[in-house]
Amino acid sequence: MKKIIFLLLISIGNINAQEKICGSQLKLKKFLHSNPEFLNIRDSLEENSINFESIKHTNITIPVVVHVLYSNQIENISDNQIISQIDVLNKDFTRTNIDANNTPPSFLPIVSDMQINFCLAQQTADGMPTNGIVRKQTSLQSFPLYGDEIHYDTSGGSTAWDTKKYLNIWVCNIDTGILGWAQFPAGGNPETDGVVIDYEKFGTNGTVSPPYDRGRTTTHEVGHWLNLWHIWGDNNCGDDFVNDTPEQEEANYGCKIHPHPSCNNNGDMFMNFMDYTNDACMNSFTLGQKNRVWSAITNYRYELLNSQGCNSPISLNSDAGIISILEPNNTNLVCADEIYAKVVLKNYGNNTLSSVTIKYNINSNNENTYSWNGYLTSGNTDTIILPVISSIGNNHILSVRTTLANGSLDINPSNNQKSKIFSSLNGKSINIKIRSDNYGNENSWTLTNIDNNYIVDSMNVLSNNTTYSLDFCLDYGCYMFVINDSYGDGFCCNYGNGYYKVLEKISNNYFANVNQFLFTDTTYFCIGSTEINDRSEHLLIHPNPTNGKIYLKHEIDPNNRIILAKIFNTLGQVVFSEKINNNAIDLNKLKDGIYYLKLNFNNINITKKIILNKSE
Ligand SMILES: [Zn+2]
Repeated sequence: MKKIIFLLLISIGNINAQEKICGSQLKLKKFLHSNPEFLNIRDSLEENSINFESIKHTNITIPVVVHVLYSNQIENISDNQIISQIDVLNKDFTRTNIDANNTPPSFLPIVSDMQINFCLAQQTADGMPTNGIVRKQTSLQSFPLYGDEIHYDTSGGSTAWDTKKYLNIWVCNIDTGILGWAQFPAGGNPETDGVVIDYEKFGTNGTVSPPYDRGRTTTHEVGHWLNLWHIWGDNNCGDDFVNDTPEQEEANYGCKIHPHPSCNNNGDMFMNFMDYTNDACMNSFTLGQKNRVWSAITNYRYELLNSQGCNSPISLNSDAGIISILEPNNTNLVCADEIYAKVVLKNYGNNTLSSVTIKYNINSNNENTYSWNGYLTSGNTDTIILPVISSIGNNHILSVRTTLANGSLDINPSNNQKSKIFSSLNGKSINIKIRSDNYGNENSWTLTNIDNNYIVDSMNVLSNNTTYSLDFCLDYGCYMFVINDSYGDGFCCNYGNGYYKVLEKISNNYFANVNQFLFTDTTYFCIGSTEINDRSEHLLIHPNPTNGKIYLKHEIDPNNRIILAKIFNTLGQVVFSEKINNNAIDLNKLKDGIYYLKLNFNNINITKKIILNKSE
């Protein structure tokens, strides 16, 4: 019975010991309480369910992976027991279950084949053959409803396979009182998505015991996983958001005799899989439930529709793929212009792999190509660091894929590609190299930005005849590197062979390569995009060297609006700061020497070196 729409049902009636048989609603309520942002997704699923038309039904076979967690051999249920459960799901969801003929005639107009089949997975998410069963011994004696241990290898459980492409079922010893639970669509973390069933209620043979020995606990929980509520709406005459199911006062237990009326209905549909009756006494889903389930598949679990999980993997002679991207990662932030991708290449083919073409890009920009050559036997992996790739900004997506394997087209694209979202520092990688002379203690250096804000300096006294190499990621802007010699003899060449170099690593562009000065030397440099550098080249200063006046010619601001010009000496001190509008600057008040002209056009900084020699 569907009553009020849009109101998300998360209130739970009073729970007594008898009712604690399915944990799905309890788990959902707890999750939504601490993750209210999921309420919107759940609400939109409700809205879609209302308008869903039966004409959109198709057939689907859902690939299943069963994770068996056992602390003793009894809990390590047999393949046969697992297969018996898949068989029950297939029958119950296609209404081919033998006990379907126990449905009272009055309900026959509303019962329905759900048009859903299930298979034990035939291939893993990365295309390897499998029987769809994962067995793991655990030191945990049992698993609680309110805990996610079961879902992770690292906590004594088993990590889910891609929950968009597989139904993950965990079978284990659940803490007393709970038969199982399911995660509703958008009802939890995708990593915990699936169904958990107690090993004594799973399948129809082996460890099962009456009255939960016909696999209906799993049918019921998969119903929740496909967005079905309990038929009594977990409230007194509550709502299950399905039109055709009769309103019902409360859960039914054991086996009832039809009719068993409540809430002014003509009889509870206690044989519905979403009630609490014994396995032997439930046998039906309704057409309304089918609409709701197919709405959930279409709007949320749609990637199941094209999952390859039920197909045998393609076995090719030459088949390569990227199985993971190890770096970059968000643990060690790298500079956006210097990104080295560390990836794992796998040989999925039968033949030994000797060559692979790897294509990779960031943010779908220009694709780079790397030719891998080596010796990789079937099923093995190699970890590769790809040649550097550059980007701009802080947030990126890296995509890596294989194309040619052993020189032939890789015709199995399903395992070729991996992508990774990561963050970086914005800017460019700069290397500063300093070689001290015989008197390293006379030298010191400082790196600041152009506004004289400190970034880093030499800190400790430099050792004699030592090479220091420092890498920085500097954001876009202009900088000043100043080196001093307290004795005034620089660091070359009478007492050693010192030098300093400032280098933009990726472009290999030297800002400085200096091996002699007296007391001090300064290098100005700007980190900018190619565009800014290009603009810098459009600024012409003439004459340069000059004997007094300089004239500026630039194409950035053709209207020659007033701009602020600053001139710095080699110590980084401002010696001239004026607004100019006639493109001429008179330097006659300055002493001969080297200066740096800094201009700012609409937040684009340009720095140019000027040589003043008034005697010429
Ligand atoms: Zn339930």
